[in-house]
Amino acid sequence: MPPKVQTVLLVNLFHEIALKRNNRRRFLQTALQNIRRSLSDMSARCFYVPPMSVRIHAPAEQLPTLQQRLLQVIGIEYISPAIWTKSWEGLQAATDLLLEQLPPFSSFAVRCKRTEKRFPMSSADIERRLGAYIRERTGASVNLRAPERTFWIRLLPDGFYLAAERLTAPGGLPVGISGRVLALLSGGIDSPVAAWRMMLRGCHVDFLHFHSFPLVSTRSQEKAQALVQLLTRYQYHSRLFFVPLAEFQQHVVVRAPAAYRVVLYRRFMYRLAEWVAQQYGAKALVSGDSLGQVSSQTLDNLATTSAVTTLPILRPLIGMSKQEIIAQARLLGTYDISVQPDEDCCSLFVARHSATRSDRQTVEALEAQLPMESLLHRALEQLKLAEYRFPSPAPTPSSQTAAPWGAGASPETTTPHDPEPRESVS
Ligand code: ATP
Ligand code: MG
Repeated sequence: MPPKVQTVLLVNLFHEIALKRNNRRRFLQTALQNIRRSLSDMSARCFYVPPMSVRIHAPAEQLPTLQQRLLQVIGIEYISPAIWTKSWEGLQAATDLLLEQLPPFSSFAVRCKRTEKRFPMSSADIERRLGAYIRERTGASVNLRAPERTFWIRLLPDGFYLAAERLTAPGGLPVGISGRVLALLSGGIDSPVAAWRMMLRGCHVDFLHFHSFPLVSTRSQEKAQALVQLLTRYQYHSRLFFVPLAEFQQHVVVRAPAAYRVVLYRRFMYRLAEWVAQQYGAKALVSGDSLGQVSSQTLDNLATTSAVTTLPILRPLIGMSKQEIIAQARLLGTYDISVQPDEDCCSLFVARHSATRSDRQTVEALEAQLPMESLLHRALEQLKLAEYRFPSPAPTPSSQTAAPWGAGASPETTTPHDPEPRESVS
């Protein structure tokens, strides 16, 4: 009987996982679980191959979608469409099958990585033997410096994998491994990138959007929804909270000098964010601040705004320029959504020149003139939640009203409110 060869997808997990000696098992389990979740609507079968790979079988017609999905799974370093065979004898048949699928080429190289050390031949021997066979079959010459085509052989405990392609995935730590955070999401360019960068460090991200409806349209909320829907591809389930800021802003306009308005808005936002984070199990806040980008992001103003919460505020973009952030947003696909016109709550009633240096005493004195407690309560009473799932493309119909300030409700005890998220957030 001829040796069996099969077309599969070989997934290689991000090498950083290998460094986590004590937690390695947990990292691998989370990575595998995420791969399965990302393919949950497909008939793919996944098998863990020690130490850092996953073999995936799926019907041929599903392979393009499968590939596209896996390229979005955080924790994967690269994927290879490969021919798998259990034995050395099968490698020749695997090579024949792969060559049939490839256009002609004039030069090539073979690279072998032998993870399974019990096999008697060295990597160099395998490369030479297979190289000789390919040369004989195709007439192409070996060129190790600049080959037109590279063949990769991986020798893993379950057999040989032969591939002519490696597709780079996002890398990073598997989503969920680092715990839950709450990202403050405007409709702008920076905050979705900040959220995504925390996903790359293994965080599961909840989102919180502040809006000024009914003083402005629902546009910013719609953008936040579109952004979360896109980012859900990377974490499979997302919660997006909406909290109104309009009433607080109206008080600020009457009582506070224009130059301090943005700092006051931000402090109010962080107080609300802390409450949401604590109620919904997030251990840190995430913001898209970049040092010096605008007046609210000077060191003094960041210190004044951060002072209202004891939660860590993660600012993954703090050292990046706007150009670098835009480049990431374009790659991520959020840029086109972010640049659509909207009316962000922070641009409402703000001075042309905001104070670049605020101090706590001044800002606390201004806040003392405002009914802070009741404004916080009322904003939280109007908190709305929409949930998103991937692979399911549309937002789930469940939208809920969370329990009011201080009620100590967990998400499980929230009551269904409005079946249409779009309605419920306006
Ligand atoms: P972005 O930073 O997302 O591009 P932006 O540049 O308009 O939007 P900034 O003024 O730079 O917003 O705000 C700094 C950070 O504050 C944002 O990255 C975000 O984390 C938070 N933030 C600002 N506005 C909002 C909002 N309406 N809702 C939630 N978070 C917000
Ligand atoms: Mg910004």
